[in-house]
Amino acid sequence: MMASSKTNNSANSSLQDTASDTTDEEKTELCPGFKDVDAFVKYGLGAVLSATKASAALPQAGDEYDFYRSFPGFQEFCESQGDRLLHCMSQIMQHHGCRSHMRDRNKLTALEERFDLVVDSNDVILERVGILLDEADGVNRSQQPVMPAGFQPPKIVVSSWNRKGTGSGSRSEMFRLLHAKNVARPQLKFKEKVDNSNTPFIPKIFIKPNAQKPLPCYFTNKQIRKQRPEDLDVPAALADFIHQQRTQEHVEDMFAHPYQYELDHLTIPESLLSKPEPQMYKPVTETKCSFIDTLEDLVALNEKLCKLSEFAVDLEHHSYRSFLGLTSLMQISTREEDFIIDTLELRSEMYVLNEAFTDPAIVKVFHGADSDIEWLQRDFGLYVVRLFDTHQASRALNLARHSLDHLLTHFCNVSSDKRYQLADWRIRPLPDEMVQYARTDTHYLLYIYDCVRAQLLDFNHGQPGLLQSVWNKSKDISLKKYVKPIFTEESYLELQRKQKRSFNTQQLTAFRLLFAWRDKLARQEDESTGYVLPTHMMIKISEELPKEPQGIIACCNPVPPLVRQQVNELHLLVQQAREMPLLKAEIAAQKKKGLTPIKKPEVTLFGPHDTSRVSESELHPFSPDELPVKQGVLFSDDEPKIDADVQKTSGLVAAAKITLFEEVKTRNDQESLPVAQMKARRIIESFENPFRMYLPSSDVHISKNAKFDPSSKIFEISKRWKLQSIEQQQKEIETKRKVKEEAKDHAKKVAEERNKAKQSYQESLQNVATVRQQAAESAKGSAKKRERVASEVGESTPKPSKKLMKSAEKPQKTEAPPQDSFKPFDYSQSDLKVFAGAKSKESTQFDPNQQAHDFKKKKISKGQKSNSGAGGRSMSFLAGKSDRGFRHNWPKR
Ligand code: AMP
Ligand code: MN
Ligand code: ZN
Repeated sequence: MMASSKTNNSANSSLQDTASDTTDEEKTELCPGFKDVDAFVKYGLGAVLSATKASAALPQAGDEYDFYRSFPGFQEFCESQGDRLLHCMSQIMQHHGCRSHMRDRNKLTALEERFDLVVDSNDVILERVGILLDEADGVNRSQQPVMPAGFQPPKIVVSSWNRKGTGSGSRSEMFRLLHAKNVARPQLKFKEKVDNSNTPFIPKIFIKPNAQKPLPCYFTNKQIRKQRPEDLDVPAALADFIHQQRTQEHVEDMFAHPYQYELDHLTIPESLLSKPEPQMYKPVTETKCSFIDTLEDLVALNEKLCKLSEFAVDLEHHSYRSFLGLTSLMQISTREEDFIIDTLELRSEMYVLNEAFTDPAIVKVFHGADSDIEWLQRDFGLYVVRLFDTHQASRALNLARHSLDHLLTHFCNVSSDKRYQLADWRIRPLPDEMVQYARTDTHYLLYIYDCVRAQLLDFNHGQPGLLQSVWNKSKDISLKKYVKPIFTEESYLELQRKQKRSFNTQQLTAFRLLFAWRDKLARQEDESTGYVLPTHMMIKISEELPKEPQGIIACCNPVPPLVRQQVNELHLLVQQAREMPLLKAEIAAQKKKGLTPIKKPEVTLFGPHDTSRVSESELHPFSPDELPVKQGVLFSDDEPKIDADVQKTSGLVAAAKITLFEEVKTRNDQESLPVAQMKARRIIESFENPFRMYLPSSDVHISKNAKFDPSSKIFEISKRWKLQSIEQQQKEIETKRKVKEEAKDHAKKVAEERNKAKQSYQESLQNVATVRQQAAESAKGSAKKRERVASEVGESTPKPSKKLMKSAEKPQKTEAPPQDSFKPFDYSQSDLKVFAGAKSKESTQFDPNQQAHDFKKKKISKGQKSNSGAGGRSMSFLAGKSDRGFRHNWPKR
């Protein structure tokens, strides 16, 4: 607190008040009534514990509570205590400068919102605590307030969230060792690069053991799955079309749960519903514990597990220095042994465990598996069939608390030190204390599994109903699908709404831009958004809109390394926000309400045509050897200023570059459009691929042989390994050869076509005069001309893609040979309205779903200045920019 009052500026007045209070008191007594901090903490902890205990003992929601409430005395008591509690919470929140409107208890609808309020306040308070602890720890001691542009200080790893200070010196010393400040980034060693692109998650599975329904061919067919657009030696837009063709029919499979069928048809055998005799766990000291970090050992473990009827599993996870999070450790306990698996090391091989994990004859016992199920899918492509979740059992048994801690105390009389739960699990070699902790999480779990099953049956007078419900709830959890965080233009509003701050237009703009900057950088650098720029700092910058870069630094304490590094970019964003016309908070809020209905992002529903969820920065970049885009003649990106009129009338980003269209630029009459311009628009349309959202970003590295290659290590080690038959292997080799041949053929064709397109483009450049004449003609409204346009539009034979994309004009010159490999959409068949500005996006043949429609409408109705231009751009040509060149503009949407 003291440190913060010295370094923070005056804006943080409430904190400062608190800080100075503390300073005064410190001279006499740190905590009045207590001899030292330890005594105070001990007392406080005691109070919190007894309160928690008491609240857990209250009548449970549902029948029990309703029954008690029928007594007026109880009702009164509840209400008065409730009021007291709300008042107290409200005071705490106000004290910390958080918004609180907790008094009004009548609006039931606001319950969820209030819950958010409490959660957010907790975040704010805890984040502040973390910062102050860091500061007290000296993390921020030597930071300079200002630095020269381009100066990159050494990275300081601040993981305040996993810091839990204890009073005694030696213990905290020990603990500090457990989160070393410079842990090597495990991501660097991953065989398959992490996919942080703003595209939905597609299951990683490619072999499906224990299948009752075979894995859809999308996952097994290497041609579809492996050959991603960036692997094709063709221009990006063409690659998109090919990819789209190949994935179109697989959309449903791509997003289904691979074991949906098996889980839907899972029955509970009699043996799992009968009362077990609890089998005591082996003492930890007498149990062998193996650390597994080689494929050989992992395969051996899988073999071992396949022979069992049950085993226990737990995971440890790291989320601060990664965008999506990293599963860092897997613990498995059998009745005899414990195993600790280094999942950072074996990330690409973990899938071998699917054989045991999806075998319905083997029970997998987890405690609180909700996150684990998602992490297993996300990082390893692992699924669980026959899950038993002891957390669900604890709930069904109505135990006082449902944590593993509590179960351990309750059933095993073991106390576990949960301090390690939030340790940095990336550390290697793993300190012994952490191994011991990790082991404890699964070691006793099978015994607990026995105990809770017995109790669930006893509880229900021997009837299996309750136990059955736990099996079913567990099954529901194993059906969970991992959903990747998707950035949308509205994401920032969701977060802003939670903050309960009233922002004026400038502040809101800053918040939007910073939010987008943070998301982009976090994905790019593979860091959590909290690491890039914690939310409370983002709010502070938005509220203060500092005029100088130093002001931005001053809003952050401690300064996140990436903020320091990119402070000039941030400053530009803040400046951009400052240029917004200033509207008062209420008006801004109203405007926001009216124009952008608050809606929870439907992250689980992705229409195949919904490009709305793709941030423009994530769009697939064009390959450098492309033309004409990269030649910078026809559709150059270099021109920052584009005639607003041209944008409005055409939706054609590059219009300003094509001076030959100047004569007709004020006309937006369809009929007066010269053929060339129509063509140009079609070309642009052809660049918009509704499947873009499925394409990985440029940084996705497709591991060529990591796990698809049948000759990989796994086959050498275990010939008798059951996952794949020899037949399958042979088939794979066969297809592999075929794919190679096809790719060769294809590359040849593409090269031919590229030359042709190049030629036709060059010719078209020489024909500029002709086009100008055409434009003049059309301006005169020549009937002949009109006919020609009509016939163009009515053409029904599919056009070769190159023509669509590249030949700007000269219809007679575009007789490129048709492609066998794919049939691009014939835009000439679409409604003429296609070319009428922004509306065009609704009438492409891809039958955009409702979501996309809504979004487009919303976007337009928002009336943002830049939309007509930037919107069109994002769909077509911004994608062609290199990331770096794009940097200064990208959040502008
Ligand atoms: P556990 O199942 O308790 O071993 O927790 C598994 C992982 O979940 C840990 O390694 C943490 O990364 C994460 N985790 C558990 N509890 C919390 C918490 N209270 N806050 C944040 N992360 C948590
Ligand atoms: Mn767990
Ligand atoms: Zn754990």
